[in-house]
Amino acid sequence: MKSFYPGPSTLFPEVRHYLTEVYDSGILSVNHRSSEFVALSQSCIGLLKEKLQIPEDYTLFFTSSATECWEIIAQSLVINQSCHVYNGAFGEKWADVTQEIIGKENCHRLPFGLNEVLQVQNLESLDGADLLALTHTETSNATCLPEGFIESVRLEYPQLFIAVDATSAMGGVQLPFVSADIWFASVQKCFGLPAGMAIMVCSPRVRERCGSNTKRYNDLSAMFDRMDAWQTTYTPNVLGIALLAKVLAGRNWDDTALKNRAKGLYDFTTQNPQLGSLLIAEPSVRSHTVIAVQAPELLLHNIKTQAKQAGFLLGNGYGKWAKETYRIANFPAISDGDLEALKGWLKNAFKNQII
Ligand SMILES: *Cc1c(COP(=O)(O)O)cnc(C)c1O
Repeated sequence: MKSFYPGPSTLFPEVRHYLTEVYDSGILSVNHRSSEFVALSQSCIGLLKEKLQIPEDYTLFFTSSATECWEIIAQSLVINQSCHVYNGAFGEKWADVTQEIIGKENCHRLPFGLNEVLQVQNLESLDGADLLALTHTETSNATCLPEGFIESVRLEYPQLFIAVDATSAMGGVQLPFVSADIWFASVQKCFGLPAGMAIMVCSPRVRERCGSNTKRYNDLSAMFDRMDAWQTTYTPNVLGIALLAKVLAGRNWDDTALKNRAKGLYDFTTQNPQLGSLLIAEPSVRSHTVIAVQAPELLLHNIKTQAKQAGFLLGNGYGKWAKETYRIANFPAISDGDLEALKGWLKNAFKNQII
């Protein structure tokens, strides 16, 4: 089965071989305070910085999931109020998690429309918020923030702490790391790896800001202290770290080809209206890494069922759009050949009246 599910998603094919290599290296049985682990952690972080062009003075952390990062941010970085700007299910869940921790009165929400091109003026009602929570790529509805938006928020509000959920973006598209303070992503989307780990990227000013609460294992100031020695506060996902280092080293992480391929997918869908219509009509907010196609329920059911029989797993819709859309991931681990095969099958399925 070729999977186009937007997470957990297709793994890079070389992961199969890397799994054996990591096993044979013995690192999986090594203590996480040992020099062997420290060398692995340091090398993985060095590769992340090099391949994703993360500034040298940023600090990187390994966490267990993007969801955990939502919690760490709410617990360690909101001073008074956070403001959540979102248009889909993941951004909303982040606000929900934060609200539980800091209280409803401190958690502002600025929902926006699916086809709305956000501008810095939309943030005028930020009020007293000191942390802004943005979702770079909203995997649930296949939108992304408009190009240049994060940079313009940074210029307009230099004091504001900006946190970005980049789960379906990091590793897929180049990110303006200098323009935000916290970026995080789990590895099961654009890194083509098994779920169960996330990367958190912090600007130099995060360390001064995070208060210490030693009651929590994932207290951010404790995480900084451990990371000074390339270590974690808990026993980390060593397999995940080792696999990440290998896929980073073995690939070119330039985003040009992926962006072109996304454009090809959008053109293909527009040219084949029998497949449904794009959920996002506004081209400047269409995600590069996942596309959502809207179709009537019966057609949707037929496309998904027949595609599955032919060996192509399409992603279900998510959240509010669960029943009216299907999603196709355009993550780096999906090969050009598999995507072309899917397009060819979809086109022929209609011609041959399979659907
Ligand atoms: C998948 C996803 C998450 C959840 O990731 P976990 O690793 O399950 O915590 C969060 N945010 C976005 C934007 C996602 O796409």
